[in-house]
Amino acid sequence: RAIRLLSTTLPRSSSLPILRLLSTLAVLEQIDGKLNSGSLCAVTAGRKLGGSVTGFVAGSNVKVVAEQAAKGKGMEKVVMVDNGAYDKGLAENFAPLLVENIKKGGYTHVIASHSAFGKSLLPRVAALLDVQQISDVMSIQSEDTFVRPIYAGNAILTVQSTDPIKILTVRTTSFPVSEASDSKTASIEEGTDPKAPSPTEWISEDLATSDRPELATAGRVVSGGRGLKSKEEFDKLIPPLADALGAAIGASRAAVDSGFADNSLQVGQTGKNVAPQLYLCAGISGAIQHLAGMKDSKVIAAINKDADAPILQVADVGLVGDLFKAVPELTEKLKKG
Ligand code: FAD
Repeated sequence: RAIRLLSTTLPRSSSLPILRLLSTLAVLEQIDGKLNSGSLCAVTAGRKLGGSVTGFVAGSNVKVVAEQAAKGKGMEKVVMVDNGAYDKGLAENFAPLLVENIKKGGYTHVIASHSAFGKSLLPRVAALLDVQQISDVMSIQSEDTFVRPIYAGNAILTVQSTDPIKILTVRTTSFPVSEASDSKTASIEEGTDPKAPSPTEWISEDLATSDRPELATAGRVVSGGRGLKSKEEFDKLIPPLADALGAAIGASRAAVDSGFADNSLQVGQTGKNVAPQLYLCAGISGAIQHLAGMKDSKVIAAINKDADAPILQVADVGLVGDLFKAVPELTEKLKKG
């Protein structure tokens, strides 16, 4: 599914000293005092590089999160900064915090998950350090060579960086988190807190809640697109099929923009990246921006009435037909086992 291999070399920054020993700072996320396990993909990526891996967490009463992280496989040390100003992960004050701790620890690599937090934070960190940032890394070839998608995943770029510190966000689905923990627990250390002021204030958030599996990490995903025609039809057809498969629900951007599904369910370039065992979609054409977020799924099954729809070119299993007939039939068959 990858189309072309390109190569480029990023310029070297002259303002930082050359560091020799490989050491990674893995930026971890906490939500309301709980470690976001998805962010541990930064640790997996750090282990892949070799050298030591140090975790970094900040927020109020963050010791509990640091202790959780310290049990993670391959973690050598966890640096924590206990300050409520970092609870919501605002990049404006988190970036100077991270920079201070990177300078103190002398790391060669700084890695975060390619999440909303990582995508907002690391470009600022890279700018403050006067180095390049490399986004959405899918694989690590060596300590300075990384593979990432470009043109909405339509081409794959191999990029070599000569910067003294590599600042990377990594694709969660490409660096799965190890369930296993180490027999020895990593040490926990207090980091430096520059207490930088933030021009941005966190006011409130309105989060969609669901009992279904989390979309980004679910083993199965059922997605609906504009072909569903309305929110009523989306709600009537997609959740029962997802329930029958024990799957998370996803949607195309067109379905989200049309109000059929919540924004948090969008899969694709500007939505979530998923790589489940099964990605089953109905009424989705397969625009490149959608494929960018799901084409690494192990098995792709698509229902579309148009035999020429691009989704059927990447699907392992395709059903050309009317989804209003096929989806209820499939749901019934799955329910009967
Ligand atoms: P359509 O393209 O309209 O496809 C609907 C499909 O349903 C058609 O193939 C049709 O044959 C089929 N259909 C209709 N009726 C039936 C029926 N009764 N039975 C069976 N099949 C039927 N899109 C994303 O999804 N995610 C992103 O993150 C994203 N990011 C974007 C970023 C940018 C910068 C841009 C420019 C676009 C982005 N898009 C994204 C939008 C993307 O280009 C497409 O417009 C979008 O994915 C189309 O959604 P869709 O497949 O649901 O709708």
